[in-house]
Amino acid sequence: MLDPEFLFCHNASLAQRDAARRVSFGTKIGTETATTHHWRKGGEPMGSPEEMSVDVLVVGAGPTGLFAAYYAGFRGLSMAIVDSLPETGGQVTAMYPEKMIYDVGGFPAVRGRDLIKGLVEQAAPWNPVYLLGRKAVSLEEVADEDRPLRMTLDGGDVVRAGAVLITAGIGEFTPRPLPAGDGWLGKGLVHFVPALDVHRDQHVVVVGGGDSAFDWVLALKPIAASVALVHRRSRFRAAESIVKEAREAGVRIITDAEVTALREDAEGGLAEIALDVKGGDSLVLPAQAVVAALGFTADLGPIENWGLKIERRAIDVDSTMATARHRVYAAGDVVSYPGKVKLIATGFGEAATAINNIAVALNPDAHLFPGHSSNAE
Ligand SMILES: Cc1cc2nc3c(=O)[nH]c(=O)nc-3n(C[C@H](O)[C@H](O)[C@H](O)COP(=O)(O)OP(=O)(O)OC[C@H]3O[C@@H](n4cnc5c(N)ncnc54)[C@H](O)[C@@H]3O)c2cc1C
Repeated sequence: MLDPEFLFCHNASLAQRDAARRVSFGTKIGTETATTHHWRKGGEPMGSPEEMSVDVLVVGAGPTGLFAAYYAGFRGLSMAIVDSLPETGGQVTAMYPEKMIYDVGGFPAVRGRDLIKGLVEQAAPWNPVYLLGRKAVSLEEVADEDRPLRMTLDGGDVVRAGAVLITAGIGEFTPRPLPAGDGWLGKGLVHFVPALDVHRDQHVVVVGGGDSAFDWVLALKPIAASVALVHRRSRFRAAESIVKEAREAGVRIITDAEVTALREDAEGGLAEIALDVKGGDSLVLPAQAVVAALGFTADLGPIENWGLKIERRAIDVDSTMATARHRVYAAGDVVSYPGKVKLIATGFGEAATAINNIAVALNPDAHLFPGHSSNAE
């Protein structure tokens, strides 16, 4: 059983301490897991929890889910956040961590990566439990007034929750594969670049013709030994302005080219990429890293079977963010209602609405209005 004292961080407010008390785990999980927060697929030195119990389970650690975690803590609710990606940040981390975002209130301009860092920091005092690299698979109701929802994760672990908030965005992303890169994933071939520094002084080839491919070449150019962009067409999906910027920065751009092979050096590491260029030429470039920025397919997957009203890959919600299912709420890109606008700013507002309504659903004596955070200790 979790030792609640272990979770009491310095300066913890009463609400925080209450939240910490209400996180309880099955016998196999230890305090260290609860406080390290990153319980990753595969690496389970402390064993899998049999069952975890929280007030709110948030499905999706994109910007909406992360802000919901802050708000749940502010309302004194314990929470866990599950995400099938190994990192927090949803679309922002996966698709545009290096881009500047200009339409988040209070930030005239904020880099995607920094916005996510700020959201994680904002939620941190409330001790959210991050279940990263885990997919929420099935949702059942059980006869338990306090914890009526039972979410099973891939691998069979279970989270019991008083309420579930789905912030699953456009669903689970699967990167489009680079056929010639079969067997190289994780051995020099990547789909996105969570940390630029990994590629310092490397020869890097980015494959793709969209905004992300151009973002990566521009971000990597100052630190890599060389950067080239390879695209199979002569036209790009990326905005003209970013293509121009890459050309002006001197990035080598090779169009009408198909990747035919990735080749190893004597030690078995990635060394070269071979291309067939339209017109019959073949080309070999040095490459210690290949970034396949070919886009993602997104799929709501298991969520479609959770008994919700879903139309055109979006969950119907009312003005409290409640779905058709008891104690199941949704917010962010995954929801639909008349006038819905899919933006980070709207997701933040919906997260606050959802959590405050969840607070009342869990405790009918609670006020819907949370009070002002500026008045909190
Ligand atoms: C290139 C690009 C640029 C953008 N620029 C802007 C901008 O400038 N301003 C702006 O406001 N918006 C922008 N957006 C949109 C913005 O990123 C989204 O509105 C925002 O990310 C939505 O956040 P979310 O948390 O609702 O969902 P997401 O960010 O999609 O996060 C959802 C998370 O849920 C997880 N998930 C899904 N299903 C499951 C499951 N079954 N189990 C576990 N985890 C699951 C996913 O892995 C994902 O991490 C941009 C989007 C793109 C692609």
